[in-house]
Amino acid sequence: MAEDTSRWGFETRAIHAGQAPDPRTGSVIVPIYATSTFAQDGVGGLREGGYEYSRTANPTRTALEEALAALEGAKHALAFGSGMAAADTALRALTRPGDHVILGGDAYGGTFRLLDKVLKLWGVEHTAVDLADPTATRAAIRPNTKVIWAETPSNPLLGIIDIAALAGVAAESGVKLVIDNTFATPYLQSPLGLGADVVLHSTTKYLGGHSDVVGGALVTSDDDLREQFFFLRNAVGGVPGPFDSWLVLRGAKTLALRMERHSDNAERVVEALVGHPKVTKVYYPGLAEHPGHETAAKQMRRFGGMVSFSVAGGEAEALAIASRTKLFILGESLGGIESLIEHPGKMTHASTTGSPLQVSGDVLRLSVGIEDATDLVDDLLTALG
Ligand code: PLP
Repeated sequence: MAEDTSRWGFETRAIHAGQAPDPRTGSVIVPIYATSTFAQDGVGGLREGGYEYSRTANPTRTALEEALAALEGAKHALAFGSGMAAADTALRALTRPGDHVILGGDAYGGTFRLLDKVLKLWGVEHTAVDLADPTATRAAIRPNTKVIWAETPSNPLLGIIDIAALAGVAAESGVKLVIDNTFATPYLQSPLGLGADVVLHSTTKYLGGHSDVVGGALVTSDDDLREQFFFLRNAVGGVPGPFDSWLVLRGAKTLALRMERHSDNAERVVEALVGHPKVTKVYYPGLAEHPGHETAAKQMRRFGGMVSFSVAGGEAEALAIASRTKLFILGESLGGIESLIEHPGKMTHASTTGSPLQVSGDVLRLSVGIEDATDLVDDLLTALG
């Protein structure tokens, strides 16, 4: 029986939830249970914890899942081998052939690809909608709509959706609301408390936090949904190994500290970009002129470490700038301690080319790390020229 951690503050949950000292040895850190199977006391006689086979459950993974659930203020979390494995399990558990999914008009390219190139072949349709507009969202709901899938802040344009308002629209029609909370993290935003049914994480990003592991998670307080996700994960097998689970758990311990610093540094970078002659637009929900600023201020603790911007000179100039930064490493992914720069149109979101989700060629996306902010600003200003 898991301990009730709800009375603890966020930082305490990050370090202690699911992570009591190992009962056998007193190890303060949860061990990496590198085992595929578990001895049984007679056929079907599972020992304490009920472990049987590591595809189904593994103690290191259980510790991670208890920590993730505690951080999101939820009853259940399930860890996966990647964010996409988590997304696939959620979508396949929640839909059947003939069903329909509504996706935000600005979403991670891989989520769009999963719907457009994989699930479509199995008869699940999808529509991209501006989810910040409740009228447009209501109008897009069909009798066969089963899921609304939203990212806030979204990838890559940092669009903001009012989660409580969207949860209201979804509930009116009996549609499940899934929030991809990868950009915000549970430290900055708690979608389940605002009415979402499921939270998805690519734990590869801020939760892991050190760019050394790929993982994902589904978090929910709905017992039935947890059972469906658990069944499908076990049936399909998209689980993380014990070492990967351990890396995410270790990263999550410092999430609060890192998110404060990511947010501080992003604010310094935004300050340098706004008004720069080579920059035509900055996308950051902390800016008063961002259309989602008020909503973000209401539902987020701070505005996070992701910043996108458009440059004068279009795609050619954007690509040139991305090749000139030194501290901002040119690479996909985000949420690690080191700063990254990427061109969504040609990299993370290339699969949206020709679709309504296509990202303009003049956009660059930054994952602002926790280095010295002055060094980061200098690096960017030098690259902008
Ligand atoms: N959701 C968002 C917002 C992402 O940025 C990503 C990956 O970049 C994913 C989901 C997929 O996660 P993973 O790469 O861990 O499969």
